[in-house]
Amino acid sequence: MDSNKGKTDRMQRLVIDAGFTCPNRDGTLGFGGCTFCDNAAFHPSYSHPGKSIREQIDEGIAFHLARGRKSDGYLAYFQSFSNTYGPIDNLRRKYGEALSHPAVSGLVIGTRPDCVDEEKLDMIASLPGSVVLEFGIESCYDKTLERVHRGHTFADARHAVRLSAERGIDARAHFILGLPGETRNMLLAECELINALPLSGIKLHQLQILKGTAMALEYEKNPEEFLLPDLDTYIELLADLLERLRPDLKIDRFAASVPPRFLAVSPWRGTRPDQIRKRLAACLASRGITREDLTD
Ligand code: SF4
Repeated sequence: MDSNKGKTDRMQRLVIDAGFTCPNRDGTLGFGGCTFCDNAAFHPSYSHPGKSIREQIDEGIAFHLARGRKSDGYLAYFQSFSNTYGPIDNLRRKYGEALSHPAVSGLVIGTRPDCVDEEKLDMIASLPGSVVLEFGIESCYDKTLERVHRGHTFADARHAVRLSAERGIDARAHFILGLPGETRNMLLAECELINALPLSGIKLHQLQILKGTAMALEYEKNPEEFLLPDLDTYIELLADLLERLRPDLKIDRFAASVPPRFLAVSPWRGTRPDQIRKRLAACLASRGITREDLTD
């Protein structure tokens, strides 16, 4: 069953691959990328840099309609690689192409904290329509960021989020739960650091170890270094985190799912995000907590 079927209380994100790369891949910081990264795992079939942005939007809308997914409108989601990494005129042109599509009412721009500067943020703040800038922060611990070859620090993330918020940009962030070397207590302690960031929302998701990545090799050698909880334990962890996170922080995502063929390790094979959402809502309810934002 499709978890989106029949829902009309959400904007549908259309994944755009606008042909950007990333400083962690083009040699500026390194060539191998973050040890967990395989962008192919997140690409729907319509999203391809060989197509124009308009074509990807048209095909993306058809893709979702064919699956019976109703929505209140569409957002162009610049998701692949680092979508503020490039000359500002190129960024302006690509964002403008998406915003000029009559079905698109806003953008979500995914990027790294070290790929924005004041000039780019001023331009993003001036764009028409709703714009969310989504930073991959992944961890608040520099030791972890170094271990997974992120190539930026938590201070970089704090700086980028602050500069964005100062300009009134809706800044959000992405965190991975269970990166190597991190413990449950470290994740709980992270909440205070996340709460101090001027973010409006976050995505949380379990670590997914993808085939062919450096992390898959690392897991093979040292599985004890990884926190890969079973589903019940993960839901308890999420509930513990949500008890500590600011209640105004919107949770845009609480679990990730890539097609199973990409997974090197698959502890919850076949569990759908809507099932996880329901179980999390029940766990929170048993603690006397209700949240309206358990969307996926
Ligand atoms: S910064 Fe993003 S795109 Fe670049 S290697 Fe890391 S996860 Fe992949």
